[in-house]
Amino acid sequence: MKKKTIVVGGGFGGMTAAAYLAREGHQVTLLEKNDQVGGRARVWHSDGFTFDMGPSWYLMPEVFEQFFADFGVSRDRYYDLYRLNPYYRVFFDSNKTVDVNGDRGAVEQLFEQLEPGGADKLQRYLQQAEYKYNVAMEQFLYKEYRSVFQFLNRRLMTEGLKLNVFSKLDNFVERYFRDPRAKQILEYAMVFLGSSPKNAPALYSIMSHVDLNLGVYFPHGGMTSLVGGLRKLLDELGVELHTETPAGRIVVSNGAVAGVEAGDRRFDADAVVVNADYAWAETNLLAPEHRSYSPRYWNSRVMAPTMFIVYLGLNRKLPQLVHHNLYFTNPWDDHFHAIFDKPRWPDSFSYYISCASYDDPSVAPADHENLFFLVPVAAGLDDSEEIRAQWYEKVLSHFEQLIGQSVRENIVTSRIYSHRDFAADYNAFKGTALGISHTLGQTAVFRPSHRSKKVQRLFYSGQYTHPGVGVPMTFISSKIIGEAIGREVQ
Ligand SMILES: Cc1cc2nc3c(=O)[nH]c(=O)nc-3n(C[C@H](O)[C@H](O)[C@H](O)COP(=O)(O)OP(=O)(O)OC[C@H]3O[C@@H](n4cnc5c(N)ncnc54)[C@H](O)[C@@H]3O)c2cc1C
Repeated sequence: MKKKTIVVGGGFGGMTAAAYLAREGHQVTLLEKNDQVGGRARVWHSDGFTFDMGPSWYLMPEVFEQFFADFGVSRDRYYDLYRLNPYYRVFFDSNKTVDVNGDRGAVEQLFEQLEPGGADKLQRYLQQAEYKYNVAMEQFLYKEYRSVFQFLNRRLMTEGLKLNVFSKLDNFVERYFRDPRAKQILEYAMVFLGSSPKNAPALYSIMSHVDLNLGVYFPHGGMTSLVGGLRKLLDELGVELHTETPAGRIVVSNGAVAGVEAGDRRFDADAVVVNADYAWAETNLLAPEHRSYSPRYWNSRVMAPTMFIVYLGLNRKLPQLVHHNLYFTNPWDDHFHAIFDKPRWPDSFSYYISCASYDDPSVAPADHENLFFLVPVAAGLDDSEEIRAQWYEKVLSHFEQLIGQSVRENIVTSRIYSHRDFAADYNAFKGTALGISHTLGQTAVFRPSHRSKKVQRLFYSGQYTHPGVGVPMTFISSKIIGEAIGREVQ
């Protein structure tokens, strides 16, 4: 008899866990609350535009290649990829823009222009980032941590200093660079990890190896093509998928999972993997005596930022933009303070502008532009209609000034998305977009555990668990726990 596993949630963490479990010979049923799978990577179709609602940076391509190889198939059977050129454009406060691309010589020249000796410094910076990345991939990322001693082992103690686990990224970058623009290019990716350069361990300088060395890619048709590819793989593996089926309770019997209730249906289970928001699921799907973490635990986590997002379809092209565009205000500390130290809507802000129609014609009608604006903001803030309307104005006015062009008269469709939407659509704790931050105290063994401390055969996958936030990380999280379940639940 095949073991029955129920996966609660069809985000990347749930879909990939389902795939590994099906490969391990389980009979897998996936329950998703919404009418689409993909979780935060859902799409919104409007007036001929297709908006990726969440992730838009396809980074660490090797993780995805490895994932499909784990099933004996090749990624390109499921979706096509292209490398972006440039990788991204940065708009600085000084009205200067710079392009970062895959031509290492050009990027070194760019850093040389930003500060004397910049090319040489960048070379040295990227060498150490590559070293750390390789050690992290081989030693730390693909590993389940079940005790502090496993993490604080001899290797970490001897390598930890070399990997800069115990120092902060901002101080570390300062050892190399003085120019604020150079520093911003090397630090901005901390927001992807839901962290700030002042708080994130300097280990995360690996992110510069990720974008500058490994490159920035995009699936033809958008990130939703990755979701479609996974769905195809799940069909081939025989996973049973139920959308519009929110789980309401995890049934526990004699200290072990027995099933999942969703509305008036009950799904029996030998094992359950929860991909739904960890904090929400623990407090809402389990009786108090079965929860691993208290409300106090969740309330004391350093939350990653959530996002104030505007999706915008325009009936004109904007030659000022490339596919990924970043605006950095200078100094940017107030924005980080407003996220992590004294949560509030920020006074000055940096933001990201996606323009996928720059090089993917399938996401917008001809001669139209598919944009989305993303401002990282603190989780748990009030996002009343009035505040949302104010911020829509703020972002659009800033953008029009930035590119020297008015766009309001060209708007075909628009939509605002922030805290309350994350909460309503994904059951996100405090309306978070990214879960919990990557501080040292929330890294590896210090992230919420892959397995319940109270209920046998109850597991977790997704951005709350190790290795953490970001699409590739959720794939790794599922490999760790999917293979462990395969060994243990037979
Ligand atoms: C706006 C935005 C931009 C981002 N940009 C990037 C990027 O460019 N690159 C990158 O790598 N990462 C990016 N990220 C991060 C990345 O998208 C996430 O880390 C990742 O998608 C999280 O996946 P997950 O499976 O952990 O969670 P989710 O995607 O949230 O999946 C959880 C699923 O559980 C479902 N669910 C909840 N409750 C229930 C229930 N009761 N029953 C059944 N199902 C339930 C939800 O509907 C959801 O589908 C971004 C995130 C956001 C929000």
